[in-house]
Amino acid sequence: MGPPCFFDAMNKVFIQTYGCQMNVADSDEMFAHLAARGAVLTDNLDEADTVLINTCTVRDHAEHRAVSFLGRLNAWKKEKPGRVIIFAGCAAQRLGKSLQKKYPFLDILSGAKDIEHFSDTLNASGLFGAPGASGQQPAPGLTGYVTIMRGCNFACSYCIVPSVRGPIKCLDSHDILQEAARKAAAGAKEIMLLGQTVNAYQNGPVTFADLLNRVSEVPGVERVRFTSPHPIYFTPEFLNAVKENPKIARHVHLPVQSGSSKVLQEMKRGYTREVFLEKIRALKECGFNISTDIIVGFPTETEDDFQQTLTLVDEAKFFIAYCYKYSPRQGTPAAQMEQLSQKVLEERLDILLNKVRGLSDTAYQAQVGTVQEVLLETENKGRSSSNFWVKTKNSYPVGSIVRVEIEKADGTLLFARD
Ligand code: SF4
Repeated sequence: MGPPCFFDAMNKVFIQTYGCQMNVADSDEMFAHLAARGAVLTDNLDEADTVLINTCTVRDHAEHRAVSFLGRLNAWKKEKPGRVIIFAGCAAQRLGKSLQKKYPFLDILSGAKDIEHFSDTLNASGLFGAPGASGQQPAPGLTGYVTIMRGCNFACSYCIVPSVRGPIKCLDSHDILQEAARKAAAGAKEIMLLGQTVNAYQNGPVTFADLLNRVSEVPGVERVRFTSPHPIYFTPEFLNAVKENPKIARHVHLPVQSGSSKVLQEMKRGYTREVFLEKIRALKECGFNISTDIIVGFPTETEDDFQQTLTLVDEAKFFIAYCYKYSPRQGTPAAQMEQLSQKVLEERLDILLNKVRGLSDTAYQAQVGTVQEVLLETENKGRSSSNFWVKTKNSYPVGSIVRVEIEKADGTLLFARD
């Protein structure tokens, strides 16, 4: 631990966040506790007094980047006595105290499971004063991210998340609504609800659908999005509950990972190809536009399994498919299996990328002639409820919603007749 360091109101905090939107929201939450102790944000590392590194461990690469940034801070810390380094999040959870042995200049370690106790961690460090009135907090922009649950109850055989984040813990719905109201009051028009399996949310009698509807009623909230859902929680009850609410954005990013039921079982995804196709058919009936993630070259994937992924892409008609080569993650069951060669992985990825290329162009073309509500992120460009980018002819106030007819599509941009 470094020397005691009680900052005045000008403690400047530099934040480096790696990974997903949940980490961005977690960084905001951690900063709120620092702000309550008089900290302000800086984007200049040289003038910072404190560095908060919020880390990701989903891939080796993300973890290495965070740890190597930490290593480089040794010199930064020596430049000015009393500087503080906080290493938080998933890599902090996975690597634990071994980090403090290797990097003795690291002051505070706060794993992903401890983020909700971050205030206590700051108090226990003795490096910051007691929390006072809440200070400056980052402006949310048009989209306010609100974490509603942490952890995951699945154990997908390629994924490290459950071992670092633990099982599902749903946050109290009153706290979630308060946070959404705070973000809306600070200017957010759209609230993005976050969780590893976000649609598994259930806290007492409050279901995920209830929560979506309640957040959409918060004054100032025009649209509600959510990520990342899991297919099995899209029940008929959910679809019935959200059907009547136009504030719930009609786009969902739903990772399928493989088109082969055999591979899905070996991945322990909890659904078959048929169940996935049935879920997206029901979602599309409610107007949802669907994007996905696909992994090629899982250790047990045969040529026939891969062909099934290709036919699933044809059947599902995704909006966008993000495709990845399987990459073994140390500490997961799939990393212990016999791996396919890089040559096979690369060939399959090429074939899949050729197949998915143009999917979004087709989806954009299909929007021509429809009427869309566009939330403007600039004076003349914004996103429709189903997540298409739309350019208007006229200018409107940023943050307003305009209802326009789509005149034409060009690549991944729609042009409005307004
Ligand atoms: S659902 Fe599977 S892939 Fe997603 S976080 Fe949980 S274990 Fe990982």
